[in-house]
Amino acid sequence: MNPKMLLDQHAIQPKRSLGQNFLHDPGALEKIVELADLTGDETVLEIGPGTGALTRYLARAARRVIAVELDDRLRPVLDSELSDYPNAQVIYQDILTLDVARMMQTEDYVVIANVPYYITSAILRHLLESSHKPRRLVLTVQQEVGERLVARPDDMSLLAVSVQFYGATRIVNRLKPAAFWPRPDVDSAVVRIDVYDQPPVDVPDEATFFRVVRAGFSQKRKQLKNSLGGGLAIGATEAAALLEQAGIDPRRRAETMRLEEWAALSRVVAAKPVE
Ligand code: SAM
Repeated sequence: MNPKMLLDQHAIQPKRSLGQNFLHDPGALEKIVELADLTGDETVLEIGPGTGALTRYLARAARRVIAVELDDRLRPVLDSELSDYPNAQVIYQDILTLDVARMMQTEDYVVIANVPYYITSAILRHLLESSHKPRRLVLTVQQEVGERLVARPDDMSLLAVSVQFYGATRIVNRLKPAAFWPRPDVDSAVVRIDVYDQPPVDVPDEATFFRVVRAGFSQKRKQLKNSLGGGLAIGATEAAALLEQAGIDPRRRAETMRLEEWAALSRVVAAKPVE
């Protein structure tokens, strides 16, 4: 049954504030499962099952599905829609307050979700910075965000560096607003992130790496010697010297930097004597 009919039956209005645009195109739902390369043995974490459309496809393709939904009003809908799928379990909680590492213990898991667009970046941080990360993520996101996640040097952002540090990131499908109800105002993209076992670049430690990257992006469009200097609370001259030591022109801008260059810079910063 389509999401509008289902919600009408339960007298529920979709909430824009919760990013409730339900994906109902069967071709798009099937394709998401196909793009996730499930073998039938996985535990899948779904964020925001909504009316359970994607959940049902996932429950058919995976060993177990744990779906986390914030909107408690959807409980009767999900109870009936998932009644034939004992391997699908719904937890009514905010994904951002759920301790995923604790819940998953030592179990491998894959995240597949049509995420609420208003918290896409927060969800990515929550999962990728977790001490027990998913093996991969297949996420339907706003197309513009998808493009930012797969950006290359010259268009990099803090978000792109953060995600690409943790996993190989690519856009694997695109969806038009008509695939959803209610229709969103924007196109969507399906992004797949294959999480690395080890960081792809040589960093002293993650905390220093991200301190340096955050400092570099702290002042938009400024030359690195200035943004880095401000972000690390050192002068522009000292920042320029660190950049040169890492083989980076101090006049460059953060959005032009490659992951390897951020790593080289973080090694130089970590080795800097404390004054
Ligand atoms: N998966 C469904 C589909 O594809 O039709 C629904 C996707 S809809 C874009 C996003 C879902 O995330 C909604 O059901 C919404 O209630 C839920 N949601 C919003 N914020 C959430 C949060 N913080 N934690 C968990 N679920 C959330």
